[in-house]
Amino acid sequence: MNAIANEIKLDEAALRELQGAFGGELVAHGSPAYDEHRKVWNGSIDRSPALIARCAGVADVISAVGFARDAGLEVAVRSGGHSFPGASVCDGGVVIDLGAMKGIRVDPEARTARAQAGVLWGELDRETQMFGLATTGGIVTHTGVAGLTLGGGIGWLQRKHGLTIDQLLSVDLVTADGEFVKASETENPDLFWGLRGGGGNFGIVTEFEFRLHPVGPIVYAGPIFWPMDKATDLLRFYRDWSAEAPDELMTIVIQRKAPPLPFVPAELHGQPVVSVACCYAGPVEEGERVVRPLKAFAPPVLDLCEPKPYVVHQAMFDPSFPHGRWYYMRACDVATLSDDVIDIAVDHSQQIRSELTAFPIWQLGGAVARVPDEETAFNGRGAGHTFNITATTATVDGFDEEREWVRNFWSALEPHHTGVYVNFLMEEGQERIRQAYGPEKYDRLQALKRKYDPDNLFHLNQNIPPK
Ligand SMILES: Cc1cc2nc3c(=O)[nH]c(=O)nc-3n(C[C@H](O)[C@H](O)[C@H](O)COP(=O)(O)OP(=O)(O)OC[C@H]3O[C@@H](n4cnc5c(N)ncnc54)[C@H](O)[C@@H]3O)c2cc1C
Repeated sequence: MNAIANEIKLDEAALRELQGAFGGELVAHGSPAYDEHRKVWNGSIDRSPALIARCAGVADVISAVGFARDAGLEVAVRSGGHSFPGASVCDGGVVIDLGAMKGIRVDPEARTARAQAGVLWGELDRETQMFGLATTGGIVTHTGVAGLTLGGGIGWLQRKHGLTIDQLLSVDLVTADGEFVKASETENPDLFWGLRGGGGNFGIVTEFEFRLHPVGPIVYAGPIFWPMDKATDLLRFYRDWSAEAPDELMTIVIQRKAPPLPFVPAELHGQPVVSVACCYAGPVEEGERVVRPLKAFAPPVLDLCEPKPYVVHQAMFDPSFPHGRWYYMRACDVATLSDDVIDIAVDHSQQIRSELTAFPIWQLGGAVARVPDEETAFNGRGAGHTFNITATTATVDGFDEEREWVRNFWSALEPHHTGVYVNFLMEEGQERIRQAYGPEKYDRLQALKRKYDPDNLFHLNQNIPPK
């Protein structure tokens, strides 16, 4: 397993020099902490870097970039470690790990927050919600702020406030040359444009500054469940009802076998269900009124949509997506939930085998669609929904079959694809990345890549090669 790391002989003198000034921890093959730190969220990824540089601050990031570049080693950049295809760990190269950089500073008067790159969404929400504030963030608390933001960032607040990148005010970044630069609307605006959707292509972001909004702390939110045999009717009802919903409401439809979680009655465990998870980013009474027609569609088998703290709602999906399970995913955007799309979705959802597989359809629109398309590198603001067809198994057992289910489902939807969210791409090849951005944005991103990373040091990502 660690043969590759064994084979790489790091230059002892260079390593000693790095060690001498490094404030964080250098974890090489053979260190007791090596296995812990090479693991990523997706248990199906098993890679063995030569060195994991666990940075304590910007100075460490600059040193680690210099070390890897001078040694000609591949660089993987890790913050939350939640890349679906495992792009944040490599075989034989250097992982520049920002996970220990946890600084957060909220300015309640200015309604802004600064977060270092190792911050996870649950950690940022905890700090901002102390002041009744929040920014659009991921829906699982242990996902990294960094990778999610750089791809665009979709979450419960997006229809009211826009994507995560629409809240981004500035970033600090270390380039491939080891130079420290800032980017915002006024400083390096070309870079700032590219970082809002262009992922980790242009350098290592060490700190983000976000705009915050008043949210909750109590929101009307949670999932409502029906038996899967109601899915076709429910999705048709949902399509019309959600199209009329105010921006405050954001929903995610999930089809799966009901999980054996404490709040799910035992008789439902393992039963195929369809659920609509809601979050109303406005007054609780209004949320209750807006969601009422959905609850009246047909008697739910379980209704967990009720007033609750926003941070509790943000943690709702944590038990369904823990570290270490085997995950595979294919994704696409669709314009609308046409009858055809619904039929395909329901047909394939009925074929889910694994009790751990949960397949979400995200609602887009609202403020996401109102930001002019050319303002950021993110593509796909006009899509109606994002399909996130995810297979999950506990171990390798059954993984191939469940992955096949994903691929067949995704292919059946192909005539309806309108695009794809880059953070939901696996290793799907250059053409898919080009499709994700569209030719114009891709060309612009490529020109930016030539300027900031002409040697493609940062290529373990949804890569935009300089030429
Ligand atoms: C359980 C789960 C829930 C998710 N929920 C959502 C969601 O609600 N909304 C959403 O939009 N997406 C969601 N995603 C997708 C998520 O946006 C991506 O997986 C994202 O890459 C995770 O970021 P990370 O920092 O945890 O990942 P990492 O694996 O650490 O990084 C992923 C990639 O991002 C780049 N990167 C990371 N850190 C930096 C940095 N500091 N500077 C430059 N580049 C960097 C690198 O290219 C790296 O390969 C989810 C993923 C998972 C696994």
